Amino acid sequence: MNKEKINMQLEQDDKKYLWHPFTQMKDYVKEQPLIIEKGKGSFLFDINGNKYLDGISSLWVTTHGHGKKEINDAISEQLERVSHTTLLGLSHPKAIELAKRLAAITPDGLEKVFYSESGSTSVEIALKIAFQYCLQSGKEFVKKKKFISLVNAYHGDTIGSVSVGGIDLFHQTYHPLLFETIKAEPVYCYRCSLGKTRGSCSLECLTQLEETIKKHHKETAALIIEPVIQGAAGMLVYPEGYMKGVRTLCTKYDILMIADEVAVGFGRTGRMFACEHEDVTPDIITLGKGLTGGYLPLAATVTTEKIYNAFLGEYDEFKTFYHGHSYTGNPLGCAAAIANLNIFEQEKTLENLVEKIEVLKNRLHDFYELSHVGDVRQFGFMAGIELVAKKDTKTAYEPGNKIGNKVIMDARKKGVILRPLGDVIVLMPPLSITIDELNMLLDVTFDSIKTVTS
Ligand code: PMP
Repeated sequence: MNKEKINMQLEQDDKKYLWHPFTQMKDYVKEQPLIIEKGKGSFLFDINGNKYLDGISSLWVTTHGHGKKEINDAISEQLERVSHTTLLGLSHPKAIELAKRLAAITPDGLEKVFYSESGSTSVEIALKIAFQYCLQSGKEFVKKKKFISLVNAYHGDTIGSVSVGGIDLFHQTYHPLLFETIKAEPVYCYRCSLGKTRGSCSLECLTQLEETIKKHHKETAALIIEPVIQGAAGMLVYPEGYMKGVRTLCTKYDILMIADEVAVGFGRTGRMFACEHEDVTPDIITLGKGLTGGYLPLAATVTTEKIYNAFLGEYDEFKTFYHGHSYTGNPLGCAAAIANLNIFEQEKTLENLVEKIEVLKNRLHDFYELSHVGDVRQFGFMAGIELVAKKDTKTAYEPGNKIGNKVIMDARKKGVILRPLGDVIVLMPPLSITIDELNMLLDVTFDSIKTVTS
């Protein structure tokens, strides 16, 4: 079969056999699928040889670009040794080395690393650890069985992580399947439910959160939060001081703090971990996405010695953490993650990011001049541009308009891959993107918003 025929067959089979995640398949099958065959640096190439700038780091995971030799080599070398061996009762060098590295770079006091494969499972594990920790920590902790999370939170798609989620569009359907959680008020400065304005408020949202914690702390095991910015909610940046305040409240009311760094970890916010911006040490941190540089599915839940110790006991006390997946701590993933961390050091990724963040920040200001850009939110190398039908009243578009989707389809024609969150256009390029490529990403996004909304 020639290439053209093979490609046609792939397109047909894609529609016939694949069920794509977070995708309305009725619409999907009407369009020509975009099938990616290769990647190099900041670019992806489809089966027809077209080149696209990866504006969303292949769903927020790519750190040092595609086809990075050092990561490829690390995976190949590990393949020569062993591709998989279990961590249930056995160990392997890469899991050990990576755990040591993670303990060293995560906020002080986080020492014990529990692996899994996705952000969702890292959260699921954090919730189970927090729950069981309370159960095994003496009389006054036994009643602590609930979790507090923010409205608009997103922590993954498994039932536990959906239970602590708060995005109606994604989570409402599953409500009867979920365990009960306590929802704290949203922190959405552009549409502040308290009528305050960002920059001139006194963190009234934190006072509100304290009310919720005060009311429920005796029955609460942990509060879970995405540090600094809520990603899937539409890139909602908390006011400065909010995270620090959350840590203080968790300590004051004796509840664990789980920081979900799945999206924000590994340099995304300009620091290795977002908690560092406000000098916060959570009791449990969850990591995924950028952990392997975007090469293999690996996640980690890292916690303190104190929490770990609550699981120690005689065999027949049954304090063991009965959790572990077939592919927990896969050696290939661990090898990729170690190579990823090495590149951060060797290439001074975070130092080099400072200038790029400035460019992103400065150029994003221009987007306000577009008549349907309501809000532009950015923290580090994460940005969201909220499109609105009416700017003065902040009126959202009717969902049927699919404005966000139209913008990204227009950008695609111009050689840029984006994926919106509703009507929020997300920009999340690989940390390794060059300034020229970043400018191209911003030019195309600006043009596409202008084309679609005017
Ligand atoms: N937590 C956060 C904050 C996330 O943004 C995501 C995914 N976007 C997850 C958890 C779930 O990660 P995964 O898709 O790898 O399961």
